[in-house]
Amino acid sequence: MIFCSDSTIAVGERLRAPPQSASDDTTRQLALPARVDIAVIGAGVIGLSIAWRLARRGMSVAAFERAQSGAGTSLAATGMLAAAAEHEPGGEDLLTLALASQRLWPQFRSEIEADSDLSIDHRTEGTLVVALGRDEVERLRFRYEHQQRSGLDTRWLNGIEARLLEPGLRPSVTAGIACDGDHQVDPRLLMPALVRALQSRGGRLFENCPVMSLETAGGRISGLVTAAGVCQARTVIVANGVWAADILSPQGIDIPLRPLKGQALALKATKQTSPLSRVVWTEQIHLAPKSDGRLIVGSTMEDAGFNAAITAGGMLALLEGVHRALPSSEEMEIEAIWSGFRPTTDDDAPILGATGVPGLLIATGHHRNGILLAPVTAAALEELVTAGSMTGAAPLFGLDRFQDVQPGQALAAGARQ
Ligand SMILES: Cc1cc2nc3c(=O)[nH]c(=O)nc-3n(C[C@H](O)[C@H](O)[C@H](O)COP(=O)(O)OP(=O)(O)OC[C@H]3O[C@@H](n4cnc5c(N)ncnc54)[C@H](O)[C@@H]3O)c2cc1C
Repeated sequence: MIFCSDSTIAVGERLRAPPQSASDDTTRQLALPARVDIAVIGAGVIGLSIAWRLARRGMSVAAFERAQSGAGTSLAATGMLAAAAEHEPGGEDLLTLALASQRLWPQFRSEIEADSDLSIDHRTEGTLVVALGRDEVERLRFRYEHQQRSGLDTRWLNGIEARLLEPGLRPSVTAGIACDGDHQVDPRLLMPALVRALQSRGGRLFENCPVMSLETAGGRISGLVTAAGVCQARTVIVANGVWAADILSPQGIDIPLRPLKGQALALKATKQTSPLSRVVWTEQIHLAPKSDGRLIVGSTMEDAGFNAAITAGGMLALLEGVHRALPSSEEMEIEAIWSGFRPTTDDDAPILGATGVPGLLIATGHHRNGILLAPVTAAALEELVTAGSMTGAAPLFGLDRFQDVQPGQALAAGARQ
C-alpha cells in the first residue's frame, strides 16, 4: 500500500527561513480513507479553514496537499486583515465581503486557538496609512474620501497626530488615515494552528499527496485520484489556490486565474530599534510588526508568471520603501526573504461556490486577501455544503460571473449533505 505523509509544516524553500512545526513534531504515515464526505484539494489557509469548519460539523473530511500546509502562498502572506486599507474604487462588493470576514475574525480566531491550543498572534492595534511628503497627501486624501463615501469607520490625521501614534516614523510623514478595524494575525502561527484545529476535530490531512485528477460516476464527481490512490467523496472542494486550473481544466472548466507575484522580507527588530506598534502602509510598502520581534516588509506586485525568483529590483524597492518611512530600519538584521503567488482573478475577487459540475465546489482567487477572507469563505462553503446555498455577499462571487454555469445543477446533485 502507498501512504501519504501526515507531516509537520515546513516553510517553503523560497522562504529561506527556519521551519515551523505543525500539530506535532512527528511525521506519521496515514492510509488513505476509501471514502469521505468531503475531500478538499489544497491545504493553504482557504482549504484548511473550510476543512476545519466542516470537520467541526461532524463530517468526515480529508484535505490533500501536494507539498506541506501553507507552502503554496499562505505562508508568504503578511497576515493583514485590512478591509479598509485595501479598499479600492469599484470594490464595493468585495468590501462587503471583506467587512463580513473582518467581523467573523475574532470568533474564528478564538475557535482556532481553542481547538488547536496554539496562539496565532491576533493583534488589534490597527493600521495606519501614511503620506510621506507633500506630494502624497492629495492621493491619501482621495483614498480617505473614498473610504468615507463607502461608510468606513476611518480617521484622518495630520502629520503630528500620525507620528504621535507611531513616533518611530520619519518627520516627513505629513498625514495619515487610522484604520482602527484593520487588525493582523501571523500566518506562520495561523497555518500550524489550522492544521492542529482540523486534526483535533477528526479531520485528516495528507501532505506530500498531490491530487492528480478527479473521478466521475453517474454524471457527477465521485472522488479524486491522488499519488497514494483513490479516495471517494460525496463533495470535492477545489481550494488549491493559483493552481486550481490544473484540476478544473480537464473538467472543461476555465477560470480566469493567474499568479501575481509578491516579494517580501522580514527584518528583526531589537529593543533599541523596536519601531512600530501597528501595521503601517506607505504608497510603496506595508510594515507589519509581529509579537516575536519580526517586522514584515511587503510586498511587490508583479505579473511575472510562475517565476518565483527573488530579484535585486524587488528587494531594492522594499528596502528603499522601509528606509523612507522608518529610520531605525537601517540597524535591523534581514532575517528572511521570500516570494509567493497571489491567486488573482480578472476582477481581483475570489471565486466561491458551485462549478456547474455536480459534486464539485470551488474556493480560490483570493488575491491579496486570502487571510482576511478565510472566515467568510469557510462560512460560505460550510453553508453551501450543509444548507445547499450561500447567503450574505458570498453569492456575488460565483464562477458564473465569468462564465455561464448553472449553480443549481451542482447543488441539487452534489453539495447538500
Ligand atoms: C507577499 C504576499 C503577501 C500577502 N499578504 C497578505 C495579507 O497581508 N493579508 C491577506 O489576507 N492576504 C495576503 N496575501 C494573499 C494570501 O496569501 C493568499 O490570498 C492566500 O494565501 C491564498 O490561499 P489559498 O489557500 O487559496 O492558496 P495557497 O496557500 O497557495 O494554498 C493552495 C495549496 O494547494 C496546494 N496544491 C496545489 N496543487 C495541488 C494538487 N494538485 N494537489 C494537492 N495540493 C495542491 C499548494 O501546494 C498549496 O499549498 C499575500 C500574498 C503574498 C504573495
